[in-house]
Formats: sequence, C-alpha cells, structure tokens
Amino acid sequence: MENKIIITIDGWSSCGKSTLAKQLAKQLGYVYIDSGAMYRAITLYFLRNHIDWTDDIQTKSALENITLIFKYNEKSEQSEIFLNEENVEYLIRDLVVAEKVSEVATISLVRNFAVAQQQRMGEDKGIVMDGRDIGTTVFPHAALKFFMNADILVRVERRFKEMFDKNPNITIEEVKSNLEMRDYIDSNREVSPLRKAEDAIELDNTRLTIQEQLDIALKLAKEKISN
Ligand code: C5P
Repeated sequence: MENKIIITIDGWSSCGKSTLAKQLAKQLGYVYIDSGAMYRAITLYFLRNHIDWTDDIQTKSALENITLIFKYNEKSEQSEIFLNEENVEYLIRDLVVAEKVSEVATISLVRNFAVAQQQRMGEDKGIVMDGRDIGTTVFPHAALKFFMNADILVRVERRFKEMFDKNPNITIEEVKSNLEMRDYIDSNREVSPLRKAEDAIELDNTRLTIQEQLDIALKLAKEKISN
C-alpha cells in the first residue's frame, strides 16, 4: 500500500496557500483542509451572536454550540465549510469577517477547539492542510512542510481581484490594510504565532506561475511519499 503523508502549508495572508494546497491534494488524491475557514466560521458565529470573545465563559459556551464540518461539493470540486449545518463557505470570505478573524484567532480556547478537530482530521494521514500554525503546532511531525511567501503588493493585488468579484465597492487600500493587520496580529500573538517551522521548505511565489509552484511542490511530495 502507498505510504500516505501529511503535508502542511503555512504562510502569510493571501500568498497562494490554498491554491497550492487544493491542487496538491487533487493530484495526490488527498483530502484538503482549509484551517482558516474554521477560524472564519467561528468568527461569523461570534459576530452573529454578539459573543464577547475576550470573556472566557461566553466563549466556552459559544464553542459548545458550534459544529464545523467540511463537505465536498462535486459541482464546484471544492470542499466547503458548514457551520451548524449551514453552508457558510461564501459568507466567511466577507471583509466583515476578515476584519475580526485574527483577533478571534488569538484566543486560546478558540485555538484549542480548532486544533483538536484539525488533528483528528489528520489521523489517517493523506491530507494537505493550510494555515498559520499547521507545521508548528497542529502537525509538528508532518513529513512535508511548506512556508509560503510573496511580495506584499502581489498578495494585495491577488486578494483584491478575488474580493472585487463579490464586492465591487471594495478598495485596494482596504484590502492592503486588512492583510497587513492580519499578518501583524498572526505573527505577534502569544499562542502559536505564525512562524516558519525549522524543517519547512520556503516557497516564495512572487515570480512563479501557479503551474511552476505546483510542479515544485508535487515533485517534493512524490519524493517523500516514495521514501
Ligand atoms: O487562511 P485565512 O486567511 O482564511 O485565515 C484567516 C485567519 O484565520 C488568519 O488571518 C489567522 O488569523 C487565522 N488562522 C490561524 N491559524 C490557522 C489558520 C488561520 O490563526 N491555522
């Protein structure tokens, strides 16, 4: 039987982690998990229910009412996140959620809740997960780890194009300040800050096409799998 591995992809906001993770998973026949979608869905629940996430008691009881499930959509060929049975894949990409998600993701109770589920999803290996702490905290023993980066202006442009399709009122400045704010909070928080794991391979895709980036990662993945 083929040796299945865990592949982790961490890095700064909007540097193409999910694009690479989805393609790698598809090529290898692995499951793709977007860990950021979990923090976004939790944030959506907190905002809708006016939860004060700085209050441990409120946060703990809110988390008890949250069920997160990923379901594969055959039509879009994407895995989508469900918050208490509601498909929120589209809603969680909104700027309202993006403005608060990094604050919510600093909370230990929230991280423990998300990390425990992420670790369960990796029990059978054969998984590609992207996020901020996947190679450092969620799967520190993963066989293959990537740490991605790209020039800030390239990242802003990519995310702006993505968000503009949904919301034509959004400005480049809003997108840029949101990315910078999230990067700052994510890399400065106390619990599991964004860091490159010592054994992660750095991948800067500022000057790489999507295909070139996939070719590099796929070659390394196949080498690991056949070892
Ligand atoms: O990956 P994405 O940009 O959708 O993640 C949204 C936010 O969720 C990040 O800016 C970060 O604050 C948080 N996050 C995290 N740990 C992860 C994944 C995401 O703290 N593993």
